[in-house]
Amino acid sequence: MKKYIMALDQGTTSSRAILFDKKGNIVSMVQHEFPQIFPREGWVEHDPMTIWSTQISVAAEAVYKIGAKWSEIYGIGITNQRETTIVWNRNTGIPIYNAIVWQCRRTADYCEKLIKSGYTQMVKGKTGLLIDPYFSATKIKWILDNVEGAREMAEKGELCFGTVDSWLIWNLTSGRVHATDYSNASRTMLFNIKTLSWDNDLLKLFDIPKSMLPEVHPSSYIYGYTDKVVLGAELPIGGVAGDQQAALFGQGCFDVGDLKNTYGTGAFLLMNTGDKPHFTEDGLLTTIAWGIDNTVTYANEGSIFSCGAAIQWLRDGLKLIESAQDSEYYAKKVPDSGGVIVVPAFQGLGAPWWDPYARGLIIGLTRATSKYHIIRATLESLTYQTADVISLMEKTAKIKIKNLKVDGGASSNNLLLEMQANILGVDIIRPDCIETTALGAAYMCALALGVYGSVEEIKKEMSKGQVFSPTENQEWRETKMRVWRKAVERSLLWKED
Ligand code: ADP
Repeated sequence: MKKYIMALDQGTTSSRAILFDKKGNIVSMVQHEFPQIFPREGWVEHDPMTIWSTQISVAAEAVYKIGAKWSEIYGIGITNQRETTIVWNRNTGIPIYNAIVWQCRRTADYCEKLIKSGYTQMVKGKTGLLIDPYFSATKIKWILDNVEGAREMAEKGELCFGTVDSWLIWNLTSGRVHATDYSNASRTMLFNIKTLSWDNDLLKLFDIPKSMLPEVHPSSYIYGYTDKVVLGAELPIGGVAGDQQAALFGQGCFDVGDLKNTYGTGAFLLMNTGDKPHFTEDGLLTTIAWGIDNTVTYANEGSIFSCGAAIQWLRDGLKLIESAQDSEYYAKKVPDSGGVIVVPAFQGLGAPWWDPYARGLIIGLTRATSKYHIIRATLESLTYQTADVISLMEKTAKIKIKNLKVDGGASSNNLLLEMQANILGVDIIRPDCIETTALGAAYMCALALGVYGSVEEIKKEMSKGQVFSPTENQEWRETKMRVWRKAVERSLLWKED
């Protein structure tokens, strides 16, 4: 009897495996952290073999720790840190270089050159992305240009490129399948999101042989079967999606205008824009949310660089709190921030300000200011930044949001969500299971295998979650946002070089 769907959630700092039952409840969960490699300032790498070994060991542990059998598992859904780039030898399966992680800035100068040479519109029009080291294309080029013998091997068809999903699929199938899904492909800066194919002009621009690239399939699709030697069973791999897109799915954002915010280290807002890509000129990305059957669903994405990171700063930098959870307890000791605003522009500001030279500030201090006010103001800054991105999305999509679905580590903070409801003036909905990324991948797999017949069936299974409703009025909101924006103005263009 089959009972479970397995989600493999390969994140930036850890690999996780979760077994869900058919109703989307977590039955077993195991997580292993792995080392971050920082060879130089601004460079970030992972060991691809460690990514694989931690992922496969958590998968096994999740099964064995509850005494389950492999034969009780319907199949596997994979979700992953996006954009991270791995190049391996097609014959041996051994990577020729470490994984270059999405955060790595090593190709910043090259990206700057591309922008100055006028490629922005071409890249945006094809991929929906801004030219940035974040995306995979320039990372692949770097490996081909800098690893001895790599380019010759690539030209002979001896190398494979993959984002982390492809790397896991390759290893789970013992090298039989080299594939990725639309959502991950759309983050490489090589994939044309209108024609749904690898783009020859971009491959030429970045000098990347097409033979390296994986086949691209829908996110809910049977990619292949795990090799018995690897997992002790032949399980179908039925779902694949990048982490933020999987979370959008796991939140049940199936309709146009549905929106979720993930409050992690940074925050990622994604809005479902339906079956047509919606290109904007204001710094929002256009991306593929998922492909199911013959339909591709698109999303707009806005990112906030410092979200939970600001809470980490309270803990590790200022030592005002001992744990992230404490932030709620201390912030509640005061009724408001006492006029204090914290702008956590530690690495500049993203949408809608787009200022890499902005730096953080604390303003509005008086002799009455206590540490509680600063903690509360820092929590409030997450809600203001979210409101800024949402108003941008509303403006470009010409809609008004009805509610906001939330997940991610900081969404466990009730005060934060109460404040978010007040600042936005809409209900904030936190699902009972905040592991929405893994849940999304599991649902995609369940759809491909027919465990669910349609997204409508999935919708019926979804819990209502906890709702946080606004208690303040529009005038209050406008005043708060005006003061926040005044503070942001003062943080802009601060760093001089
Ligand atoms: P990531 O996936 O980016 O590692 P997570 O979704 O695991 O992030 O969330 C971790 C972040 O959430 C950390 O930055 C932490 O400071 C923040 N966080 C966790 N719990 C709370 C809380 N109760 N209140 C505020 N922030 C929190």
